[in-house]
Amino acid sequence: MRQPEFPWKVGSWRDELAGALTSPDQLLDAVGLTRESVGLGAGKPDETHGFDLRVPRAWLKRIVPGDPDDPLLLQVLPRPEEGRPVGGYSKDPLGEQNQNPCILRKYSGRALLLTTSTCPIHCRYCFRRHFPYVGSATLDQIRLLAGEDDLREVIFSGGDPLMLSDEALDRLFLAAEELPGLRRLRIHSRMPVVIPRRIDAAFLRMLGRRRLPLVLVLQINHPQEINEDLRIACRGLSSFGVSLLNQSVLLRGINDSLEIQVALAEKIFEIGVLPYYLHLLDRVQGASHFEVPETEARKLYGEMAARLPGYLLPRLVREEAGADSKTLIFPL
Ligand SMILES: *Cc1c(COP(=O)(O)O)cnc(C)c1O
Ligand code: SF4
Repeated sequence: MRQPEFPWKVGSWRDELAGALTSPDQLLDAVGLTRESVGLGAGKPDETHGFDLRVPRAWLKRIVPGDPDDPLLLQVLPRPEEGRPVGGYSKDPLGEQNQNPCILRKYSGRALLLTTSTCPIHCRYCFRRHFPYVGSATLDQIRLLAGEDDLREVIFSGGDPLMLSDEALDRLFLAAEELPGLRRLRIHSRMPVVIPRRIDAAFLRMLGRRRLPLVLVLQINHPQEINEDLRIACRGLSSFGVSLLNQSVLLRGINDSLEIQVALAEKIFEIGVLPYYLHLLDRVQGASHFEVPETEARKLYGEMAARLPGYLLPRLVREEAGADSKTLIFPL
């Protein structure tokens, strides 16, 4: 197979990570906005509400300067509303915190591994924003899964598994590939979207050593997140036979319109990615201002179904604590 050419150097993603912005003032400065223009006021000591700001410059580049309603800015800028307690919103909406925190075995045939607690970006709506990580899945824990003979797929999640080095990922994949009966490997990662340079020649060489088919589920919420670097990264991944899917979260004021959803589906297709899930927001404390009510979501979904071919229509789902799969939601 011909090796894809990347216009970036192996490992340059680490500089992107290290150079990420970490304070609201830095971010506002970089996009030419003031605290007043985004309704932030003077600022308080706990203005990030226990979940630090983190925005790499590769993401910053896609924010339109001077627009307080920019859909990429809204995903990462802490809001005063995050500190307001709202009924029905909790720190652990999915009831995951009492389980073995490193390997979640909720769904038939699949084991979900928490491989790291860190992410390249901090999304304000994230349901794991209060997750008390006590470590990450170890090689021994993966090997123990050999006793479970219905296991078909291991899902590498986090945090963001692509925060790990290629060597660490290689070791995890190798351990999983030794499990008898396993058919597929899956990665859930926002990294290729946030820092497309994470996908470099060394990473693809590591993928090239895989014995099992690999599925990579990205998270793109808005068409404006798609740029030339992401296109190049996806082309590299596709050329190595990786199946690319997208999940997004339905977010108030960001992607809760028919036009945006249709444009998103069409644009991800252009970079070789198919839609997978459109999630209703998990009710995590601090994220209530992003919620789109279910009746509104169903109506929007009906309109999407009328406009898009079936293969470009994501499944609208909600996660319910204790359910044995994501719960499908149907159009109104
Ligand atoms: C979402 C999820 C999965 C994967 O579910 P799919 O419907 O196969 O994408 C597996 N395990 C857990 C615990 C999950 O939350
Ligand atoms: S990258 Fe994923 S896990 Fe990390 S903060 Fe964003 S939504 Fe949460």
